[in-house]
Amino acid sequence: MNHNLYCHFYPHFERAPEKVLMDTLDGQRYRYQDVLSLSRRLATVLKELGVSPGDRVAVQVDKSPEIVMLYLACLQIGAVYLPLNTAYTDSEIDYFLNDAEPRLYVCRPEALESARSIAEKAGVAHIESLGTKADGSLMEKADAAEETTTVAEVAANDLAAILYTSGTTGRSKGAMLSHENLASNSQALTKAWHYGESDHLIHALPIFHTHGLFVACNVTLINGASMTFLPKLDIDELLDLMPHSTILMGVPTFYTRLLASPRLDREVVANMRLFISGSAPLLAETHEAFSERTGHAILERYGMTETNMNTSNPYEGERRPGTVGTPLPGVTVRITDRETGRELAQGETGLVELIGPNVFQGYWRMPEKTKAEFRDDGYFITGDLGLIDEHGYLNIVGRDKDLVISGGYNVYPKEIEQIIDDMEGVAESAVIGVRHTDLGEGVVAVVVPKSQGAVSETDVLTALKDDLARYKQPKRVFFVEALPRNVMGKVQKNQLRDTFADTFS
Ligand code: ATP
Ligand code: MG
Repeated sequence: MNHNLYCHFYPHFERAPEKVLMDTLDGQRYRYQDVLSLSRRLATVLKELGVSPGDRVAVQVDKSPEIVMLYLACLQIGAVYLPLNTAYTDSEIDYFLNDAEPRLYVCRPEALESARSIAEKAGVAHIESLGTKADGSLMEKADAAEETTTVAEVAANDLAAILYTSGTTGRSKGAMLSHENLASNSQALTKAWHYGESDHLIHALPIFHTHGLFVACNVTLINGASMTFLPKLDIDELLDLMPHSTILMGVPTFYTRLLASPRLDREVVANMRLFISGSAPLLAETHEAFSERTGHAILERYGMTETNMNTSNPYEGERRPGTVGTPLPGVTVRITDRETGRELAQGETGLVELIGPNVFQGYWRMPEKTKAEFRDDGYFITGDLGLIDEHGYLNIVGRDKDLVISGGYNVYPKEIEQIIDDMEGVAESAVIGVRHTDLGEGVVAVVVPKSQGAVSETDVLTALKDDLARYKQPKRVFFVEALPRNVMGKVQKNQLRDTFADTFS
C-alpha cells in the first residue's frame, strides 16, 4: 500500500475537477483541475532539478495559492517539504539552509540575488523563485513543463515535511513529520470537527506553520472542501467573507480583534458553522465575549509543530472556556510529575505527555534532543504543563520553561495572570521569573493597562494579596503598551525575561 498523503487528496481531484478549491480576494479562482495540473507540472520541474525522494525542498516565499501546489508537488514525488518563516533574515536563512541541506531552495523573486550567495555557500544545488502573482522562475519552468502523473511510493514513516518550531522557547528545531503523521491527523480532525466537502474555510493564517499549512490545508484537501486565501489578517475582509464561508481557523488575536469590530454580530456570522482557535491560549474572557456577541462558542484545540493537533474541544457537547478539550481519536494524553516522571492523578498539574500516530519522527539532526524528549515507553514530553480537570478536559497551564521557581516553590504564571487579567483596567498580563539573589527567581508581573494609568502597581498588588500565597505574589509590577508576540500570537516570555533581567540586581 502506498502511504503517500497525496493519495488521500487525489480522489477529490478526480471527483470534482470543476470545483473551485482556492480563491483569492483579487478574484483568482483555482479549480481542482487547475491545482492538479499545476502541481503535476511543478512535480516535473522538481524532478528535472534533480529532487529525489527524501530530498528537502526549502521554501521561503510570501503566501500565495501556488505554495499549496508546490507542497502537493513535493508530496507527489516523495520529496520533503520544508517551509521557512517569511520573517527570517538572511543570517537565519543561512543557518536553516546549512541545517536542512535542501536540494532546492525557493525564495521570493526579489530575494533571488542575496539568496543565491547564501544558498551557494550552504551547498544548495538549485535556487528558484516564486512570487505572489504566479510569477518567478519556478512558475516559468512549470508553464513549459509536461505533467508528471505518477505518485511516489512511500512507507508510513517516510518524511513528508520538516517544519521548524516557532522558536518561542529557544532556537527553532526541525520537526520531522511523516506521511502517516499528517494523514492520521487530518482524518482525526475531520471526524472531530465534522468536516466535509461543503465546507469553505477562511484562510488568513501564515502558511509556513503547522496551523495554516497542515490543519488548514490538509483538512481542506482531504475533504475535497474549499478555501479563500488571504495574504494576511484583515478583520474587515474576514467579516466580508463570513456570509460565504463556514469555518474560520485563527489564533486568539483573530478573535480579540474581531470583537473590537462593531461589525461583528449574529447576522454576519449566520452562515458560519465553526470558529476554531489555537496556537496560543485563548482567554476565557474572549471566549465568553464571543459567545455573547455571536452565539458561537469558539472551539479551542491544542497542538504543536511536533505533533500536529492533540486535543480538541468537542463539536457536539460543551466547549469549556480556558480548556483545550479531550484527546483526538488515536491520541493518548497523560500528566506526569516534572521531577520524578511519575504519572499524576486527575486534577494535579504536571508535564503533558502524549502518544499517537500524530507524534513526529524526531528532531532533524538532533538525536540527543530527540532522545531527551521521549520516554522509554514512547510518550513524547511536550514541554507544556497542564492538568486534566474533573470533566476530563485538558487545561494547559503554561510551558515548563516558563515555570517560576521562587524560594524553592513552583509558581505557575497562569494562576497569577488570570487574576490580574480579571481586574478592571487591565487588558492582559504576563508573569515571569527573574534572577533574584535570595530566592533564585523573583516573580514579576508585566501588565498592559486598558488605557494609560488605568491601574497602578499598588492596585495590582492589592488585588493579589488575599487570593495568593505570599511566595506567588509579584515582587514588582511593570506596565507596557503591548506584550511582545510572534506572528502566531505567542507571547515571547524570553524577551520579557531579558527586558526585566536586572530588576533585582
Ligand atoms: P518552540 O518549541 O520553538 O519554543 P513553540 O512551542 O511556540 O516554539 P509551536 O510548535 O508553534 O512552537 O507551538 C506549540 C506550542 O504552542 C505548544 O507547545 C503550546 O505551548 C502552545 N499552544 C498551542 N495551542 C495552544 C492552546 N490552545 N493553548 C495554549 N497553548 C497552546
Ligand atoms: Mg515547542
